[in-house]
Amino acid sequence: MEKINFNEIKTPAYIVDERLLENNLRVLRSICDRTGCRILLAQKGFSMYSLYHLIGKYLCGTTASSLYEARLGHEEMHGKETHIFSPAYNENEFAEISRLCDHVVFNSITQYQKFKKQALQSGCGCGIRVNPQYAEVETEIYNPCCAGSRLGTTLDVFERDLKDNPDALDGITGLHFHVMCEQNSDTLERVLEHVEKKFGSYMKLSQIKWVNFGGGHHITRPDYDIERLVRCINHIQETYDVLVYLEPGEAVALNAGYLVASVMSVQRENFKAVYDGKEYEARAAILDASAACHMPDVLEMPYRPEIIGAKLPGELPYTYRFGGNTCLAGDIIGDYSFDHELEEGEKLVFCDMAHYSMVKNNTFNGIALPDILAYNDIRGVYPVKKFGYEDFKRRL
Ligand SMILES: *Cc1c(COP(=O)(O)O)cnc(C)c1O
Repeated sequence: MEKINFNEIKTPAYIVDERLLENNLRVLRSICDRTGCRILLAQKGFSMYSLYHLIGKYLCGTTASSLYEARLGHEEMHGKETHIFSPAYNENEFAEISRLCDHVVFNSITQYQKFKKQALQSGCGCGIRVNPQYAEVETEIYNPCCAGSRLGTTLDVFERDLKDNPDALDGITGLHFHVMCEQNSDTLERVLEHVEKKFGSYMKLSQIKWVNFGGGHHITRPDYDIERLVRCINHIQETYDVLVYLEPGEAVALNAGYLVASVMSVQRENFKAVYDGKEYEARAAILDASAACHMPDVLEMPYRPEIIGAKLPGELPYTYRFGGNTCLAGDIIGDYSFDHELEEGEKLVFCDMAHYSMVKNNTFNGIALPDILAYNDIRGVYPVKKFGYEDFKRRL
């Protein structure tokens, strides 16, 4: 595989490698081919629509969390399916949503009743998001089954609504759940046990034609157990005579892109720090990439992105604590060690930066947005989007 020359890149910039994206897409496509299930791109995680033509060759369409995402998927992956889930739909937007979307998933029976007529008249397939009250997500802000969650209908509420109105499910053709985050198919298997136990009798209804397993399936990770996923899909499709949908975001673009940054300044004094019980000396260094602006999940998740050529703090002789060029003290990416002293202007390549990065960017502190580039074998590295002052000013 031709190597990308990161040294020629003006920083900061994201680069998405189409070859790596396509490797992921082939894996996802093979699951559709083997099971007959349908896989959608969750645009929340990756909305680089200049590559939707490529994604659309392999996947069945897009899913959206809002009107704007729905419109983007409809416009840019034209002719493919457009789905949407939103915790609550806006009355001013619903006419457009129902025109754009093939499937509309409602957060509750109450939401469905409110928009049912409009949705059915537009020919949308309507579904209810259920909350099986079982998840294995440890980071609470990513756990849709946390206590008091607003995401999805619990069995209790579902049955109470049906008791009040026995016809409440008229027109409903699908069920949806989303309770996973970066997980393997053994988690899915356990989630499904709970979904079946609670909602199995409803999935058996002849009106139910599809079940959407949501996202959070880390399918394109090397240790992902695809065989188990295939068994799970087949089991649900055969037992309930339904079509299964998956809507991964992260797995589509996993390890398919980089954020290239430069070292702007290195502090002159060392400080002591501890990692994994081991003490080491480090220096603060300032980059033209920011955790707060360009990789907010580093702070939110939190997680430690890989940098090409760097190791854990203290492992190699020179350790640096990288921070962004903002005034936020906590705008820290992490501590990394190198086999040489870093110089101003040196380039650093952060890995796995295609998903949940560009879609979350902001211009806090007036920090510039990184350019967006892509690579393919025909064009090499090519520009997709450049940003400037106007992008900052226009939103304020
Ligand atoms: C976030 C989300 C997804 C995508 O999740 P990934 O973790 O990126 O795979 C899919 N469906 C729904 C309803 C979501 O909220």
